Amino acid sequence: MAEKSKMARFSCEEGKGIFDSLSKHWTIIAPLERPGKGRFSGTALVSYEEVRSFDEIEFFKKTQFSAKSVLLPIRQAMFSFRDNKAAASGAASDSRSHKAEEADDRTRPTIIFLRSCDIHAIKVMDAHFLNSGGYTDFYYQRLRQKVKLFLIECERPFENCFCVSFKTNKTDDWSAFIRKAEGGYEIQVKDEQLGAYFPGNAEDIAPPRFAEQDSRPVKIPQDIDTSIFEDEIWKEYTLRCIACGRCTITCPTCSCFSVQDILCEDKAGEERKRIWSSCMVKKFSLLAGNHDFRIKEGDRLRYRVLHKIYDFRKRQGINMCIGCGRCDDACPEYISMFKCIEKINHIIEARAARPDL
Ligand code: SF4
Ligand code: SF4
Repeated sequence: MAEKSKMARFSCEEGKGIFDSLSKHWTIIAPLERPGKGRFSGTALVSYEEVRSFDEIEFFKKTQFSAKSVLLPIRQAMFSFRDNKAAASGAASDSRSHKAEEADDRTRPTIIFLRSCDIHAIKVMDAHFLNSGGYTDFYYQRLRQKVKLFLIECERPFENCFCVSFKTNKTDDWSAFIRKAEGGYEIQVKDEQLGAYFPGNAEDIAPPRFAEQDSRPVKIPQDIDTSIFEDEIWKEYTLRCIACGRCTITCPTCSCFSVQDILCEDKAGEERKRIWSSCMVKKFSLLAGNHDFRIKEGDRLRYRVLHKIYDFRKRQGINMCIGCGRCDDACPEYISMFKCIEKINHIIEARAARPDL
């Protein structure tokens, strides 16, 4: 059966009322430009924030950070161990007995405005947290169920993007598609619940336009064999990488975290939190017994790059990298995922030409 959808055009003025009624029930997260907050003095930061009107949304600039913190908060309380006296009034008052309590989730239903590549990034996160080895992550699922996605267009690739190479440039996996047009907005809504907020006053909204060609295309290597783990290429990165973790923080599909028990604010117990971390920083892979799997920066980069384009795909059938190029934009040492993929291609081609090497 064909999907029912509602189409509408509305002016900036009409948009104010629509936004107000939408935001009574939904938190709206979208790209927002903050002048003066960028990486260099006098530059702007474009990142995902809660917005207060459609007019505030930055439809045309690339965000330096992704929206992943909506589904994987930077600090997320999982549960607490609290003194029974504090946990439930009237409960037994044995101060040595502690009760584990699941952390509340007070997050409101949320709409996120995303480009096609970032919608693909959410598919990666879904594969990772909802179906990893048959397990579902309770905390991720609890937030994911509250989220709906609004597609925004990306007609041309931004600098450093290579989404077409990863085939993440197009998607029809959205609840609504919204376009900023002359004097207002155009919207197509597939989701019935969201359709109630918009007038059905148009029949001819042009379908979403997507980037069709990368400014720097790259072949995604398919025939990686594990001998690449030992290649000399990674040594160069040990000399260059400063293990700052910027590449992972900006990446929409990096999801490493550490778990810490922290004293509750009322000091009546401890709270277990998961907190963003990074496979690129020192000691992330340090185990009990002082065994560290990846001491050198190049080893950590190898792990990250191959996770993005090789082993995640082997398990989940999709690449973990979506070609957004944010890590290339962010690295202070100009280490580039794109260049790394090119180098891997050269190694594979050289080995195929000289199998005796
Ligand atoms: S290009 Fe970099 S930041 Fe973007 S998905 Fe790939 S690894 Fe992550
Ligand atoms: S951003 Fe660059 S320097 Fe920092 S950890 Fe990543 S690759 Fe290394």
